[in-house]
Amino acid sequence: MENTDSTQSVRVAVNIRPLITSELLLGCTDCISVVPGEPQVQIGSHSFTYDYVYGSTGQPSSSMYDDCVAPLVDALFNGYNATVLAYGQTGSGKTYSMGTNYNGEGSSDGIIPKVMENIYKRVKTMKDSTEFLIRVSFIEIFKEEVYDLFDPNSSRGEVASTVKTTLPNKVPIQIRETVNGGITLAGVTEPEVKTKEEMASYLSSGSLSRATGSTNMNSQSSRSHAIFTITMEQKKGDDILCAKFHLVDLAGSERAKRTGADGMRLKEGIHINKGLLALGNVISALGDEKKRKEGGHVPYRDSKLTRLLQDSLGGNSKTVMIACVSPADSNAEETLNTLKYSNRAR
Ligand code: ADP
Ligand code: MG
Repeated sequence: MENTDSTQSVRVAVNIRPLITSELLLGCTDCISVVPGEPQVQIGSHSFTYDYVYGSTGQPSSSMYDDCVAPLVDALFNGYNATVLAYGQTGSGKTYSMGTNYNGEGSSDGIIPKVMENIYKRVKTMKDSTEFLIRVSFIEIFKEEVYDLFDPNSSRGEVASTVKTTLPNKVPIQIRETVNGGITLAGVTEPEVKTKEEMASYLSSGSLSRATGSTNMNSQSSRSHAIFTITMEQKKGDDILCAKFHLVDLAGSERAKRTGADGMRLKEGIHINKGLLALGNVISALGDEKKRKEGGHVPYRDSKLTRLLQDSLGGNSKTVMIACVSPADSNAEETLNTLKYSNRAR
């Protein structure tokens, strides 16, 4: 039940989470179905095909790591950049699927804990011949500014703007492009990590500062993109191989809507997430083979998110988008939006 076209630069998996207690209590019912044996989902009169479909009656989500993410870990060890993006409305299971809140204990079913585990397993078997330098960074993009989640003085610009003058004046991180097209973040905290446990503790401290960084409002962390990046340098004699793996918990997609159901512009005050709009355009340009062959324009420069990921989306890098959806009928409209958005990637 998969599409095996390896030339495809972006693969898309849909992950349908189960109905959660709050939805069951409201009497919500399932509004999405999976075509048996096919990576195809149906909602109302719409039908969409992806590379993989998990949950509901599709594949068990336990196979998601092996199918979608393990090839990206392979790519990392071979010196290619890789990116996993979790997309979906707030509450659709992005953080759950990515395992962004993993703290070294409890369930390690999420993608990030499995990536960590598999990287160090492999490093152990290669240690005799290869010297490894592994670093992590953890940033968030909020209102088109990049903040360092490992920097204790870092905060989003929005933290009680009225008391701004009494807070340390935190300068957002600048995105730089190197002469050979690589992207770097000027001055970002990038500690070396030697074990899985050490990496988990960094992940956990960064996630904590994301959640509490801004007057405790969840609505704000759902409006930011969180990017956990593992950079790996391998030294084998004189040979040095360097690559990075971005694990991205995207902002809630519910604010990416440009127009209401009847084509009316949404009321002012609803923030349109520039990153998600730009990401959709970049991914769709990458998927447009004709455009790619003609050296067509890929609009990386339209947002901080796509600029930061520029050297890790398309080209030789490997990308997987995990479109997370709730099956509840009350979320049908947002679920349809997510299915349409992620369908553009194919
Ligand atoms: P998001 O990050 O997209 O806002 P979360 O990951 O926080 O969403 O998930 C919302 C709720 O759904 C949480 O209570 C989470 O535990 C639950 N959930 C998400 N995915 C699953 C799943 N596959 N199985 C069971 N519960 C899930
Ligand atoms: Mg989340």
